[in-house]
This record gives sequence, structure tokens and C-alpha cells, in this order.
Amino acid sequence: MRGGMLIISGPSGSGKSSLMHEMFKKIDNIYFSISTTTRGKRDGEAEGVDYHYISKEEFENDIEEGLFLEWAKVHDNYYGTSLKPILKSLHDGKLVVFDIDVQGHKIAREKFGDSITSVFITTPNQDELSKRLKNRGTDCDEVIEKRINNALSEMTRVREYNYVLINDNFEKTLEELTAIAISSRCRVHLLDTEEFISSWVS
Ligand code: 5GP
Repeated sequence: MRGGMLIISGPSGSGKSSLMHEMFKKIDNIYFSISTTTRGKRDGEAEGVDYHYISKEEFENDIEEGLFLEWAKVHDNYYGTSLKPILKSLHDGKLVVFDIDVQGHKIAREKFGDSITSVFITTPNQDELSKRLKNRGTDCDEVIEKRINNALSEMTRVREYNYVLINDNFEKTLEELTAIAISSRCRVHLLDTEEFISSWVS
């Protein structure tokens, strides 16, 4: 088996990051793809842990050099996935987990097809998302408004995903996400059939 790929998308404020964080404690041999972004660092975030933070000019230069597996503009900022560490982790047999938006999911799906398992995580409704973003206190009203509008347009593309999770109960959603991550490793598309059969026969 080669390493697998698990893409997790969903509106900012859906609880994605906290769920992933807890899920990582439960699963071995996993690699979280740290994205590169031009957005400012939030309180509590750290370089090389949450993101690699670079300038717009550097990001555009990296696009030119073909360093990204995929990239997208989200809420007026660039976000992208660097190719090199992903290929290495897949080669090492790791489950690579991506937190990327619907645009990134589409590009990755075009490149890697059914080797990818994807999950869309959201809140039970728009009011709940608005409440969580306000409580988080990291964004001004204008940015919150943008995030909510963006969430609505992302929701219309939920059918592009393999799974959808409504995060109305953290523990239950965590259990579901962990189950999906575990089973994503057993995707038949990750199997080299010829090698599998020949080693099974001998
Ligand atoms: P935030 O600013 O809340 O950390 O992230 C905003 C959005 O950008 C989220 O929907 C997140 O999934 C998405 N995102 C983060 N990294 C990447 C990336 O490398 N590529 C793409 N396409 N989207 C990303």
C-alpha cells in the first residue's frame, strides 16, 4: 500500500482545526500538510505549525516556479500546498491530511482521483457559524461577513466530497472523522494490484 490522502474542507469556524488536532492524537503514521499563506498570523498560531507565512510577492514567485500541488485565493489571501513534502510522505507510506478549501480539493482530485478521501465539515446552520466566528474574536465584522458568504458558496459544492459531517457534537464528530481517516487507508485505489497478487501467491 502507498500512503493515502485525506482532504478536509469546510468553513472557517466549523471546528475543523480542533477536530483534526484531536484526531491526530488517535492515529499513527500521519502527516499534516502545512499550507503556505499570505494571510497574517492569528494569535496563538505559529510559523511552521499552522502555516508557513510568506509575502504576496514570494507566493507569486513560488507559483511561477511550480512549487505548489495546488493553490487558491480565499478571502483575498493566497493559500497553497507545497508539493515536495507531500510526495515524500506518500512515498514513506503516510496518511497525508490536507486542510484546504473547495477549489484546492477540486484540483487535487483532478490530479490524484480516487486515491483521495474527502470530508466536508460544517455547522448545523449559518447562525451557529456566525456565533462561533464572533466568539472566536479573531476577525473583524467585515471579515466575518466574507467568511459567512464564502461558507455558503462552499456549501453548494458539498456533493464533490465523499463524506459530510455536521459538527453539532464535538465528540461524536471526532469519532466519525477518526473512523473515516482509518478507513481511508484501506482504499482499494491505493493498492498496487500486481504487486499485491504476486506477493499473495508466493
Ligand atoms: P483560515 O484563514 O481560516 O486558516 O483558512 C481559510 C480557508 O483556506 C479554509 O477554508 C482553509 O481550508 C483554506 N486553506 C488553508 N490552506 C489551504 C491550501 O493550502 N490550499 C487551499 N486551496 N485552501 C487552503
